[in-house]
Amino acid sequence: MVTKEAVMDALSKVVDPEIDIDIVTLGMVRGVAVEGDKVSVTLALTSESCPLVDRIKDDVESVIKGLGGVSSVSIETDVMNEEEKSALLEKLKEKRKTLPMPGKLPKHGIKRILAILSGKGGVGKSSVTSLIAVGMQRRGLKVGVLDADITGPSIPKIFGVNEVPFVLEGKIIPATSSKGIKIISMNLLLGNEETPVIWRGPLVSTAIKQFYTDVDWGELDYLLVDLPPGTSDAQLTVLQLLPVDGIVVVTSPQELAGVIVSKAVQMSKMLAVPIVGVLENMSYVQCPKCGEIIRLFGDSRGKLMAEQINTQFLGSLPIDPSLSAACDKGKIEEYHNKAFEEVVEKLVS
Ligand code: ADP
Repeated sequence: MVTKEAVMDALSKVVDPEIDIDIVTLGMVRGVAVEGDKVSVTLALTSESCPLVDRIKDDVESVIKGLGGVSSVSIETDVMNEEEKSALLEKLKEKRKTLPMPGKLPKHGIKRILAILSGKGGVGKSSVTSLIAVGMQRRGLKVGVLDADITGPSIPKIFGVNEVPFVLEGKIIPATSSKGIKIISMNLLLGNEETPVIWRGPLVSTAIKQFYTDVDWGELDYLLVDLPPGTSDAQLTVLQLLPVDGIVVVTSPQELAGVIVSKAVQMSKMLAVPIVGVLENMSYVQCPKCGEIIRLFGDSRGKLMAEQINTQFLGSLPIDPSLSAACDKGKIEEYHNKAFEEVVEKLVS
């Protein structure tokens, strides 16, 4: 027996193609009646001449018939009253909040973009970005890494990638790691990783923009953007331009936590991009013999920092010589660390 609830549930899968929101959320389903195996639906349209009415009706019929046990579907249409129209407008306003802000680049086939930020260089931002990418890839997700650290690019080395990207039909094809992570970095284009890039701000932001728009990223679950260290204009430009969904802050116990906290919060507010987590790197050393944890720089402050920012603490990572060795050898994809798996789990969920 088909129920009214089952019909409503099915109707919530019919999307208004023009607005890209389902018709139940939009308040377009004014009534549903079920009599035995006969279903009738009344739809309220925005106007009499709604151009997509036939398509919506077809979709409604097919999802209801798809429930099984339905012999006929009758669909009546009417025009929305003022109240219904203003409720629909509210929905559209909500939707607009989730769309890229004016001036931001479109997302194409990329589902989520995370920017990895640190207050200063050397805290392990690039290593952490790479580890996140590896963790996500191990979970079967499609991942790309955009090395936006134009003047100090280190992602290709960490992945042991040195193929020069080529151009196909006007798009740059990114390099691919041995496990299939897509990578673009200034290092790959320079051919020689020792070549210094001495560029000023505007040129750097142009390069980052091109790394986003001119690269054929294809379909990705996550694009990770390894930002240059610091919280100044360079980082702001990237965050302003790219449709970033969230910022991950990487810190270390030696950092002046207060400074990065206030700057990161300021940035996040200005750009309306949430900080999705704080991760403390090089937090402690674990004795390989007895397992004792030694906090070289005192108590971990990452957790407190996350609380201050009102975001989740993703975890702390130890100083691990095998991590730096893996990064140096370009073998990050062979590195395993349980503490990090938990970090990725939290991020993805
Ligand atoms: P950033 O991107 O913040 O400048 P990197 O990721 O390049 O920092 O890391 C700086 C150096 O520290 C690299 O040599 C890297 O291998 C090493 N490193 C980073 N995190 C750790 C860690 N948890 N344990 C050991 N070495 C690390």
